[in-house]
Amino acid sequence: MGIIKLLDEHLANQIAAGEVVERPASVLKELIENAVDAGATTVDVTAEDGGLTLLRIVDNGRGIEPDDLRTAFQRHATSKISSGKDLFQIVTLGFRGEALPSIAAVAKVRCVSSIDDSGLGRAIEIEGGAIKKEEDAAATRGTDMTVRELFFNTPARLKYMRTVQTELGHLSDVMYRQALSRPDIAFTFSHNGSTLLRTTGNGDLRQVVAAIYGTAAAKAMVEVKSEHLDYSLTGLTAMPLETRSNRNAITILVNGRYVRSPAVVQPMLQAYHTLLPINRFPLSVLNLRMHPTLVDVNVHPAKLEVRFSKETELRAFIEEAVRKALGEQTYIPSGAAVR
Ligand code: ADP
Ligand code: MG
Repeated sequence: MGIIKLLDEHLANQIAAGEVVERPASVLKELIENAVDAGATTVDVTAEDGGLTLLRIVDNGRGIEPDDLRTAFQRHATSKISSGKDLFQIVTLGFRGEALPSIAAVAKVRCVSSIDDSGLGRAIEIEGGAIKKEEDAAATRGTDMTVRELFFNTPARLKYMRTVQTELGHLSDVMYRQALSRPDIAFTFSHNGSTLLRTTGNGDLRQVVAAIYGTAAAKAMVEVKSEHLDYSLTGLTAMPLETRSNRNAITILVNGRYVRSPAVVQPMLQAYHTLLPINRFPLSVLNLRMHPTLVDVNVHPAKLEVRFSKETELRAFIEEAVRKALGEQTYIPSGAAVR
């Protein structure tokens, strides 16, 4: 008799949660991405205690069909791709169908969603992967996700959570990246009752930068805008003297998705050449667009890494685009070339 057997769905979800849900910030990232994919124009986020006791994300997107609500929390359930072909041209932030079941496996989740303006929707409550309740509920169009007591049933994971301040720092990073990647969406973020970020959603990237990094920093940035056969690069990047000690100051978006990509960052820094002091980084938000078939986002469960199919060509394009942006500025710092 063989001893190999398939894991039951509950256990499989808990294991997947270990990869997808590292800390409150990973829950926030997945839920905001879902709101963005649903076409929301407002996304309101509330957190308590670094997101460990409560995270609530309310969007005005297209909502979840009442009949789909249960399915949305099942493993590999997604409305975003349906065939293998789709995998090679991903246009949404999500596509794995793993976030909701993973989150619901390690927290107490209530989701209320409505697809129209009837004032009615449907609600579901799931705790540690078990459905506790499903019922009709009053709701406005969009989705309201409340995640309480993250890791309540996985004490080993809970033990690894840092202080509220550290978790809040990670939550803020996620909020900032999402706000920077979508200036056309109005985001709010409040923690333990105080509002930490508010963007207008009017589409102006410089205003979002100002809301996050301050007006002075936003003013000291130049516009990047270049296009070449396969690629387009837009955004804002700091003038050479406006540098920071932290690489986090660099936000790279590929087709709207925040990624960590040396293939973009290195040529970007190269463009500053000797203008950057050693170990200083420019505040920068760069939005790289290309046909979805030219980039593979299915490399990493958190989708933080991507693979480009024509990397050499891409690197040359980025360096040239940033160099052009810096060259076009009128302000050339005297003596900055001396290291
Ligand atoms: P994925 O995003 O990879 O499809 P998720 O587990 O995050 O997987 O979500 C499962 C499905 O639930 C999504 O494909 C979508 O149809 C639906 N869904 C989740 N969140 C929202 C939301 N905020 N608004 C509308 N639909 C949503
Ligand atoms: Mg998702």
